[in-house]
Amino acid sequence: MLNIDDFPRVSLGHGPTPLEAMPRLTEHLGGPNLFIKRDDCTGLGTGGNKTRKLEFLVGEAMAEKADILVTQGAVQSNHVRQTAAAACRMGMDCHGLLERRVQNAGADYEVTGNVFLDHMFGASLEFREGGLDMNAEAQAAADKLRDQGRNPYFIPGGGSNATGALGYAVCAQEMVTQAGDRDMTIDWIVMGTGSTGTQAGLVAGLHALQSEIPVMGVSVRQKRDFQIKAVQGLVEKTAAKMKIGTVPENKVIVDDGYVGGGYGVPAPSTLEAIFLASRMEGILLDPVYSGKGFAGMVQMIRDGFFKKGDNVVFLHTGGSAALFAYQDVLSTYKYKRSA
Ligand SMILES: *Cc1c(COP(=O)(O)O)cnc(C)c1O
Repeated sequence: MLNIDDFPRVSLGHGPTPLEAMPRLTEHLGGPNLFIKRDDCTGLGTGGNKTRKLEFLVGEAMAEKADILVTQGAVQSNHVRQTAAAACRMGMDCHGLLERRVQNAGADYEVTGNVFLDHMFGASLEFREGGLDMNAEAQAAADKLRDQGRNPYFIPGGGSNATGALGYAVCAQEMVTQAGDRDMTIDWIVMGTGSTGTQAGLVAGLHALQSEIPVMGVSVRQKRDFQIKAVQGLVEKTAAKMKIGTVPENKVIVDDGYVGGGYGVPAPSTLEAIFLASRMEGILLDPVYSGKGFAGMVQMIRDGFFKKGDNVVFLHTGGSAALFAYQDVLSTYKYKRSA
């Protein structure tokens, strides 16, 4: 069991999310048995992984009697969109800072997809040029709101601190329970890793549960060594918060072979993965995170990285709202089924 009952928490998502088989893709790739953990279906404002983190972050904000959530992300941030929806649920406001991190984006990039949904959820938005320290920018915006008599609660990019990561310790417990209920062993969990909270929470949660399931983080932005250090740093803080002792450093595994042209720029393998998932399983991935994570898993299967009888779970972290901001590349993509 996890010792998380003492932390403030609000209920924002549907849980547990389904753990489903992907039989057609399994047969098509002739690989290990493929499963998908549907955290794209967490239920808050089209769903995604930030919902689990926000249950603890917004819990803390409520305990502090905050009246406005302040956070930041890239223009097409799924995190800002879910934070804006969470604010609506709790009767708070949301202020989001959006970084122009992606160069040469399509025509609709700044108005459709997540940005449009931010508007639906009534968030106030400020844009920033790329390359700034966005957490510092957001903290400055929070200070300004405090000077104006508001009580802001600052959430770092991606909701990735020890509080947010608790949400993924909960997800680890869900998966262990779901596997146990159906007498199934999980041999690998594969996921896209960005601001680190998801992987760090999973690794800390699995450690707390004394589970040995390895987690493969497919980097969506950073080089392997950088990402490993960043995830390890947050694992350490999360483990301290949960009082679960030291997590061995080798529990953090990252592959950086699927970043392509950088954050928010889909590689050819990302596009192929998106169409494989949609056409074979009726599942919508996204061009920034889950498409890259899935591409990593597909290539590892083709490379024989997994054993034939392995049960491999892809953690679907959401993001399909961003598909609309990438319509230009996706609608002209010529999908050809290949093994
Ligand atoms: C934020 C996000 C991720 C990455 O999770 P981190 O905790 O930031 O590493 C993956 N997929 C989607 C769709 C996301 O929005």
